[in-house]
Amino acid sequence: MLNLRQLFLLNNAQTSSSPRLLEIESAQGMYLYGPDGEKYMDLVSGFAVSNIGHRHPSVVRAIKDQVDRYMHVTVYGEFVQAPQVKFAEKLVSVLPENLNSVYFVNSGAEATEGALKLAKRFTGRTKILSCNNAYHGSTHGALSVMGNEYYKEAYKPLLPDVSFINFNDKADVTKIDGETACVIIETIQGEAGILVPDADYFKILRDRCTATGTLLILDEIQTGFGRTGKLFAFEHYNIVPDILLLAKGIGGGMPIGAFISNRHIMHTLTENPILGHITTFGGHPVCCAAGLATLETLLAENLMQDVDRKEALFRKRLVHPRIREVRGKGLMLAIQLDTFEQVESLSKTATDKGLIIDWFLHCDNALRLAPPLIISEAEIELACDIILEQLENL
Ligand code: PLP
Repeated sequence: MLNLRQLFLLNNAQTSSSPRLLEIESAQGMYLYGPDGEKYMDLVSGFAVSNIGHRHPSVVRAIKDQVDRYMHVTVYGEFVQAPQVKFAEKLVSVLPENLNSVYFVNSGAEATEGALKLAKRFTGRTKILSCNNAYHGSTHGALSVMGNEYYKEAYKPLLPDVSFINFNDKADVTKIDGETACVIIETIQGEAGILVPDADYFKILRDRCTATGTLLILDEIQTGFGRTGKLFAFEHYNIVPDILLLAKGIGGGMPIGAFISNRHIMHTLTENPILGHITTFGGHPVCCAAGLATLETLLAENLMQDVDRKEALFRKRLVHPRIREVRGKGLMLAIQLDTFEQVESLSKTATDKGLIIDWFLHCDNALRLAPPLIISEAEIELACDIILEQLENL
């Protein structure tokens, strides 16, 4: 009889020839557990998802309560479903005034798709600007705005009229003109290996978008919900986007995304044609209940408050001749090494020592650190001890 790993390789579609093949039996807080008692500290949060930890009790309770009432009842946008209404109301209450209309979808990529359609529809323009090394998802539209030819080439033709600027390049903003529908950009570039912009970059970009009637789409799918020490990373830069993209952490471990804009802009999806974006499961009531509990927990437990201090502790401890740089903001950090071989070897040996770390899509010689925000100082110390010990053994 085949074991679970063999069945996984046989029947589950694979995305690479070298999956990590870690079998998970359960998860709680900072930890993942294997079937034979293995315990792993999760330093990547399931890729920036479990910001409040795995299976937070308030999220589990909200899910169970909602499952006892109803699950799917109809397509998005028709019936009044309390979890959707309450989660949207809560999101709007913590966002700037002009972001007051929430369209719930199923994933980050779908949030990207919805936002690109909305920007084209609202402006009547087709030109889209994205950034080199950007990642906004893997569906056709999202792939079109990915800033890495390697992953795109095999799937061409993609969306027309897409061009690229360099992230954090102030001179490049002049490429935004009166024909540009939107600029889609991560507030801090994630898969590029965590690139933090200069303090004044987004103000310059925002001003250029406003002057040219271009919509600014900020992708906070990785940076949102406290990861950088603020609820949303754009709060660091004193700007407000026209469309905000959220996913990953907002569901507390459940699949949900959203594109959020102004009612006036969002209204264009409702006529000529109606049903400008359609989704059956978007805003699933169980996911929205989980999302509301996640946001309430983030705020009630003040989980953003210690993020800066925890970042500082990582930075203080992660000093080693093989570490070229530690960069990022809050608990969204990259440890820059020299080669992919070092990164691959270190993530393997760290796993053997009970630590989950990973790397980035567009930067394979840096390690990814994005632990749940609940990580304690003692856990940071232990994680750094293991990383430093493994670096010695490279
Ligand atoms: N945007 C950013 C910045 C991301 O990091 C990701 C996923 O890694 C996405 C979009 C796509 O999200 P999803 O995998 O839910 O489609």
